[in-house]
Amino acid sequence: MRFDVLTLFPEFILGACNYSIIKRALNKKFININVVNPRDYTNDKHKKVDDTPYGGGAGMLLMCQPYIDAYNAVDKMGNSKTIILSPKGKVFNQEMAKEFSIYEQLIIICGHYEGFDERIIEITQAEEVSIGDFVLTGGELPALSIIDSVSRLLKGVLGDDESSEFDSHYDGLLEYPHYTKPRKYEGLEVPEVLLSGNHEKIKEWRRLQQFIVTKNKRPDLFEKFINSELTLFDKKIIEKNSQLF
Ligand code: SAM
Repeated sequence: MRFDVLTLFPEFILGACNYSIIKRALNKKFININVVNPRDYTNDKHKKVDDTPYGGGAGMLLMCQPYIDAYNAVDKMGNSKTIILSPKGKVFNQEMAKEFSIYEQLIIICGHYEGFDERIIEITQAEEVSIGDFVLTGGELPALSIIDSVSRLLKGVLGDDESSEFDSHYDGLLEYPHYTKPRKYEGLEVPEVLLSGNHEKIKEWRRLQQFIVTKNKRPDLFEKFINSELTLFDKKIIEKNSQLF
């Protein structure tokens, strides 16, 4: 999959992608990241990309010309989606990460200062995406979050012993608790069932823990899950532990 990122700070994106799993995904060519700096496309002799807002008000707005020319310069693939980062956008979640991972190309437009001239959104017809109800100084951290979460869903990006299947939010639930060595630490013991070697029991225990953790930490998610189409396996666990739910 290819990510094309329009940003005034290309090194921010490329530098952060030079670590761990994303670096490996780049090296193995499971993903490709192309950065485009709108400043390289400005017609302004002083390389300006922003100007004051009509009607007055604080801050500077990103101008149409450099952003639209930079956007037009991106090679569009057949199966391509464009998003523009904004705190006004649809709040990103795992469901959207899955949806984005189906595309061959994700074009991500990062803002800065007070944000974009509205016509950039209209002309590119980009979907506005937010990473949460808070305001950052620029779109680079949101872009990196999206690149990271989408990449780890792509085939081959996670190694054989890594998997996204049981992660929090994969199927609307939070993850079960994990333990590693030692068996006892500061008086706290690893749950007995995990040492039993009984894979069926472990699977059932883990699923039950997912229900309990989600119900306690994110009742909103649990409510949604419990009202969805449950598998026979899930129904059985819930019936067996009905006093908990
Ligand atoms: N004036 C804008 C507003 O109130 O909606 C905020 C602009 S913000 C300071 C600058 C840029 O950072 C935005 O254009 C956007 O690209 C990015 N940004 C900030 N917070 C974000 C968020 N929660 N999600 C996605 N992008 C965000």
